[in-house]
Amino acid sequence: MKLSFAPFELQLKHRFTIAKFSRTSTPIILLQLEHDGCIGYGEASMVPYMGESIQSAANFLSRVDVNQFKVPFDYAAIINYLDSIEPGNPAVKAAIDIALHDLEGKLLNKPCWQLLGSLPENIPVTSYTIGIDTPEIFRQKVEEAAGYKAIKVKLGSADDKQLIEIVRSVTDVPLYVDANQGWTDREASLDLVYWLHEYGVQLIEQPMLKTDPESNAWLTERSPIPILGDEAIQRLGDIDKAHGIYHGVNIKLMKSAGMFEAKRMIDHARKLNMKILIGCMSETSCATLAAAALAPQCDWADLDGPLLTSNNPFAMPQFENGKWILSNDAGLGLMQ
Ligand code: MG
Repeated sequence: MKLSFAPFELQLKHRFTIAKFSRTSTPIILLQLEHDGCIGYGEASMVPYMGESIQSAANFLSRVDVNQFKVPFDYAAIINYLDSIEPGNPAVKAAIDIALHDLEGKLLNKPCWQLLGSLPENIPVTSYTIGIDTPEIFRQKVEEAAGYKAIKVKLGSADDKQLIEIVRSVTDVPLYVDANQGWTDREASLDLVYWLHEYGVQLIEQPMLKTDPESNAWLTERSPIPILGDEAIQRLGDIDKAHGIYHGVNIKLMKSAGMFEAKRMIDHARKLNMKILIGCMSETSCATLAAAALAPQCDWADLDGPLLTSNNPFAMPQFENGKWILSNDAGLGLMQ
């Protein structure tokens, strides 16, 4: 087996601002694993606040021995091996895991969604995310999003209520809210949750600091809207910690170290009766199709990476009625 990779700067269509950060592009790594005439594609998206970089990913990959990846793949052994090289580094581990799944699908001539036990017809609509902006530009972005079947709004500025009112003056589609740890006062947060409930908000992500489980649990206990942990949850071991603090979790491949562990997180969260959103970072069609292969097993999907970026190096996957269409092609179904 042969591993190769190249850095790539993924450009966003609009400057993207959330409660704590703002950016116009995201460094990613595009990775390939070649075996028996087949190529598996993987991707690591390294949003700056997660702590990985092109350099850290390259350093990690220089220590990976591809002879460890024997066919058929033993994913549990592979993730243990990758974790033994160095803890952390979930995005670059995800790139390897995604490429292995794509490769496995191609070797077996099966789509990844089938390998993971998903039913394509159960895929939820994907939400289209709108970052924090001035009310005028925000309205323009909501109007541009008319074709999408769900909208996710980033909150955590002084204009929170105004932004929601703008959305509702334009569209009635399901609305998700992400506070990105931006809320601080418990009672004020609860008042806002009830206000958002009136506007038909269906879920709220990471309202308060990930380091303050007590305040998040306090809000969850009282909230009529499902409260999901995002920044507080990365890998499988975090699901147990999130139980009782949040109604559900936002699982992302760039946090979970890939598809294998994301599937284990979904199964474990379900056993605990927790809700599941599958989300993404700024990603190309590659990591998006990898997450979409698991999306039918989740309650909600927020897989809008290719919809928000302008230089996706792969073809745009089929998108109809607000949903990604999972194809019958082998592997991820990624097209050049
Ligand atoms: Mg989030």
